[in-house]
Amino acid sequence: MEVMADDYDTRDILRPLVFRLHENVPAIVREVLLERGWTEFDKKEQDDADWNLYWRNSPFRMTDHHSIKPWQRLNHYPEAVQITRKDYLARHLKRMKGAYGSALYEFSPVAFIMPNDYIKFIAEYSKERQSIGRRPSYWICKPVDLSRGRGILIFQDIKDLVYDCTVIVQKYISNPLLISGYKLDLRLYVCVTSFCPLTIYTYEEGLVRFATEKFDLSSLDNVCAHLTNTSINKCGASYKKYKEGIGCGCKWTFSKFRSYLRIFGVDDMLLWQKINNIVILTLLAVTPLPVASNCFELFGFDILIDDKFKPWLLEVNYNPALCLDCSIDDTVKRKLLHDIVELLNYKQIDAFRRNQVAGTKAGRRQVPWSTAGESAAREAPGLLTCRKVAKCTSASSIQSDLQAAKGSIPKVATLTKKTARAHPRKTLTSQLREKMSMPKIPSQAKSEAKHKQLPGAGHSPHKPAQLSHWLPTPDFCNYKLTTRPYFLSDKDQRPIPRVGDFVLIFPFNEAALQASRDGTDVKSIIKEIKKLVSKQLPSKQQNTKKGGGYLTSV
Ligand code: ADP
Repeated sequence: MEVMADDYDTRDILRPLVFRLHENVPAIVREVLLERGWTEFDKKEQDDADWNLYWRNSPFRMTDHHSIKPWQRLNHYPEAVQITRKDYLARHLKRMKGAYGSALYEFSPVAFIMPNDYIKFIAEYSKERQSIGRRPSYWICKPVDLSRGRGILIFQDIKDLVYDCTVIVQKYISNPLLISGYKLDLRLYVCVTSFCPLTIYTYEEGLVRFATEKFDLSSLDNVCAHLTNTSINKCGASYKKYKEGIGCGCKWTFSKFRSYLRIFGVDDMLLWQKINNIVILTLLAVTPLPVASNCFELFGFDILIDDKFKPWLLEVNYNPALCLDCSIDDTVKRKLLHDIVELLNYKQIDAFRRNQVAGTKAGRRQVPWSTAGESAAREAPGLLTCRKVAKCTSASSIQSDLQAAKGSIPKVATLTKKTARAHPRKTLTSQLREKMSMPKIPSQAKSEAKHKQLPGAGHSPHKPAQLSHWLPTPDFCNYKLTTRPYFLSDKDQRPIPRVGDFVLIFPFNEAALQASRDGTDVKSIIKEIKKLVSKQLPSKQQNTKKGGGYLTSV
């Protein structure tokens, strides 16, 4: 349906974005979205497609992906479980080791999937035992589809290995970096805004999770000494106690950890580069996934650092915990969620959801989307091939020109319910100020806009007459809706390098960008990563200027 300018009411400029939550979504997700001035989807009052963000803890149905609208985002990709189930991940990483050499993929501890790999495991176990002068390894046995440290067992002697479901038996990193004798690992947040073209952001802030009992290889069954899961340690006897060097509780922020490393002369930049390489190499291992538009995935990468400052990938979490156990959680996770919403790059036009001009089921006016948009959506439903995505991208460059000519449709103006805490929110006054200083609309567009003076402008009881001068006129007649990937900047059609504390780590250079444009050319990307790694090597010696001894002394 063609949209008439008359359908548009400037009051709608301040329409809020709408979120939809499935059951059991952590409370903080709702809180953050309300803080940002969003409203919650009401099934009884609103149309099925009348929302902008749907957040759930479990995967979406394929029909949800197929029926995705341009103004909507889903918080999961189809098949993300390929990386988050321990056995699937082990299999993918093993395949990559075989294809691209174990040196590049040696960040993942050797692993066996039981019972299938039982014979292989016995062979490895026996080989170690027979080699003279070699201390036998420790092993960790983890159920493949459990989380939060449940069902985990650490052993050295095979007679202690018992399992009654599919498990992964992984080499136990028995020389972890310790701070004041306590083991730690990193919960790194990674947001993939697209698998094709692969677009990866890592979050600069994050959580360091400590064990709450001192590390001791002679007590392998002490879970509070060997596992760093908060769900386990918060029930431990020492959780609330002050622990020398660590403090109370069991968490630090990355910022605190990095400052700590610097005090001891550790090259934390190099460590972070290595961690970023791990993230990229791991995600490459699961490509290609079915390509879906308008979704994103927040992963929790668990990284353990050993006493030589080598980072190891332990696992990748689906739905990383967003519950708030302590004030550090609140600081990190609240800002993380705000930054995710920023990363989703909503535009003002996204607030004009289909069938939502009048806002209620009864007597609503119809859609401000153009027919071109409808057909684009039909041709390119939620699931696309890489080639189709690439085509959409190029088609969208026309779109971007159009937007640029309009002075860029600004981000959605929302009225905030609460004043910001960690994240400054926009007030109505500041929105208006922003609008006043918006780039000038080209004169032709301006005169067109003038002729489209909106009925009711100036008559709204909610809005001063003057407002209509400043508000940009979403020109729905010209706004050809396409499935332009939301994660590309309007300016240059490239991924945005940084959003809040999210830093783009892939594509990391022009060659990587080209190699992921039309399908993912893993071989070329790996070649680029190898070049990167070789550049990182010379500073390896600098990694610990004063040695790790200060940190690792128990
Ligand atoms: P879960 O999904 O149950 O949390 P993880 O693989 O994250 O399982 O393991 C839980 C904890 O066990 C980790 O946070 C870490 O402290 C410890 N751990 C897991 N694997 C290893 C390993 N290979 N070496 C050393 N510690 C490990």
